[in-house]
Parts: sequence; structure tokens; C-alpha cells
Amino acid sequence: MIRYRAAWILPIAAPPVRAGEVVVENGRIVRVSDAGDAAAIPFDRECEAIDLGNVAVLPGLVNTHTHLELSWMRGLVAPSNSMPAWAASLMSLRRQHGGESVGPIATAIEQTRAAGTALVGDVTNTLAADQLLRDSSLAGAMFYELLGFNAPNPEQAVSAARVALHGEPDHPDWIRTIVPHAPYSVSPALFRAIEAAAGDLPVSIHVGESADEMEFLRTATGAWRDLLGRLGVWNDRWEPPGCGPIEYLDRLGLLNEHLIAVHGTQLPDAELERLATAGGTLVTCPRSNRWTGAGVPPIQRFYESGVRVAVGTDSLASVEDLNVFGELACVHQLAPHVPARRLLESATIEGARALGFRREFGTIEAGKRAALIAVSLPRHVDDVEEWLVRGIEPDVIEWLDEG
Ligand SMILES: [Zn+2]
Repeated sequence: MIRYRAAWILPIAAPPVRAGEVVVENGRIVRVSDAGDAAAIPFDRECEAIDLGNVAVLPGLVNTHTHLELSWMRGLVAPSNSMPAWAASLMSLRRQHGGESVGPIATAIEQTRAAGTALVGDVTNTLAADQLLRDSSLAGAMFYELLGFNAPNPEQAVSAARVALHGEPDHPDWIRTIVPHAPYSVSPALFRAIEAAAGDLPVSIHVGESADEMEFLRTATGAWRDLLGRLGVWNDRWEPPGCGPIEYLDRLGLLNEHLIAVHGTQLPDAELERLATAGGTLVTCPRSNRWTGAGVPPIQRFYESGVRVAVGTDSLASVEDLNVFGELACVHQLAPHVPARRLLESATIEGARALGFRREFGTIEAGKRAALIAVSLPRHVDDVEEWLVRGIEPDVIEWLDEG
């Protein structure tokens, strides 16, 4: 049993506690002081007491959207002002390379952990990161992503994916499930086949990312239509739904509390409200949106709409690092009026909830995993929450011994 004392404890489930204490034992949180009883926790057993000094202790962060297998692409896909053009470059690079490299995945996992992240939502087309993730100290959801705008046999594609995904025994720290890529790359029949297999597990989908996607769904025209033609997968029988992506997913049976709508950069208010009403989660990745040419996400509107907002870095193909604190700094810059506390919730409990781990991660509460980080603070910090959303580098982050 270890009793940590720190200048600040951020339980997330409650306001920050000055000169707080948290007790951990065998990997679990036993007790945390709340405002009012700080430093007044009674102890019935002897335990090691550690004064961490001028640090903020908070739960390990959640990166709700990344693609670790693309880590070898770091810096290789140039920023663009057109998302379909950027995606075409990525696909061409991937074809030339012929397989995902394991070394960069291992490095990315180490850097993820060093940046204070405990939980990830990792999208994969190849399962290349599978073993490394199971052997790592990260936990999370592994989303085996299918594409197929003109797939001949969607049910068969889903059962083949199930066989590949469940070839390895289950791991208690990992949820593994099949997800569709995006409305412009998945046929309605494949969406339905994936929906039928999803059960109560989270389903992560890229939606409302670029203006081109909105045009494609309205009128079946534009850069995505052209790209599908060039790739030889356009289907003449495909009818545009004539609506936004959230309404489209609703018609396909995928709009519910398990939906993780990634990006949403172009979603109008009505679509955000529809997602909010269904209890789905929006994951914003603003640094990636800037890189790929998807646009600037309307962060303040996201929060005002009432939708649950989580944060993701996306992959190293479209962002300079996988540091969630860095992503938060960008979110904060784009929406300085959204309270820092809400941004910290997005990077912790909202992500944990969306990925299906809210009972284990995302807050400092008795019974949850003792996956805790300590962030060193400068001598005078007036507002610790505000400080934490201005960008924190790994050199001031330490993982606490879980007792
Ligand atoms: Zn993505």
C-alpha cells in the first residue's frame, strides 16, 4: 500500500484537491481525499508514504483515436489542403511500402506511455500492432477496420475479420472489435454486416471529416467520388443518402451510445445534436485535421451541442507526436472559452467511457486502476487545470508505482 501526497490531486470526478492524498494498493485506488478532508485520511494499516511535492496527480490520459500501425509514416505524408488528395498520397505510400513496420510501432507505444497515456482506441487494418499492444502496459480498444465500397460479400468479409481478430486468446485489458472506416469507403451492406456483429461494443467510425465527404453524401459528386472511380471501386448502384453522415449512420442502425464519431470537423449543429441525443461520442483530433486539409474543427460548438467530446491524436501520418497533452493544447487554443476542466474530462473519463473502460480508467476513484501520472508543476501555478491544457511534455511526466 502506498500513500501519495501531492500539491494537487485531480480526481476528474471531483474538483482538484490542493495538498491532496491518494492511496493505492495492488494496482487499485483505495482512497482519495476530496476537497475538505485533504490530508485527513485515516489509516488502519501501515503503508509507505511518499510526498511527491509540487506535482499534479491525475489519471492516465486516454487517446481515443490513433492508428499505431501507421507510425512508420511519420513525416512521410506531406500536409495537404485537400483531404482526398492527402488520403490518396497515404494509400499510394502504403502500397509501395508493402507492410507495416513493427519497430516504429514499438517506439510509438513507448512514446504514448511516456506522454502519460494509459488507454488507447487503436484502429488497425492489419493487426500489426496486436502483439505489441498486448505485451505493453497500455490498455484499450483495438478496432479492426474494414473498407469496401463495392465489396462483393460483406457478410463473408466480416466473418473473415472475426476469424483474424479472434485468432489470439482474449486479453483482459483489450476490447477487440470490427469497425467500418467511413461513409465514403464502406457500402451500406458492409455497414449493416458490421452493425450486426457489433453487439454492445464500441464502434469507431471516421465521420464528417472533410467538406468533400459532406458533398459526396449529399450528391455523390466531388473528390471522393473521383477517387473511388480512380481506385476502380465506384458502384453505379450507390444512391447518395442526401443527408449528413450522422443521419446516414442512424438510418444504418449505427447511431447509439456505442458510436465513436471521429473528427466531425464539418458537422452542422443539427447533426451534433442528433449525435448528442443518441449518447454517442465525438472524438476531435484538431492537429490531424489541420495536417490533412480536413479543416478547423468547431471545438466550441462541439461542447455547446451537449455531445460527449473525447480527444485523439490520430496517427503519426498526420500529426507530429502522439502526446494527448499536445492535442489538448491545440483544442484549448482553438476554443479558449471552453473551461479547462471540460477539456481534461475529454482526455480522461469521456475517452474511457467511449472505449468501454469507464469502470477501470478515467478518474481517480476508489476501486479503479491505479494508472496515475504525476506532472511536475512550476513554482507558482494559479490555475492547475488551465496549466495542464497548455501543453505538457513527457520530461515532466512520471508514472506512479501502482502499489
Ligand atoms: Zn483516423
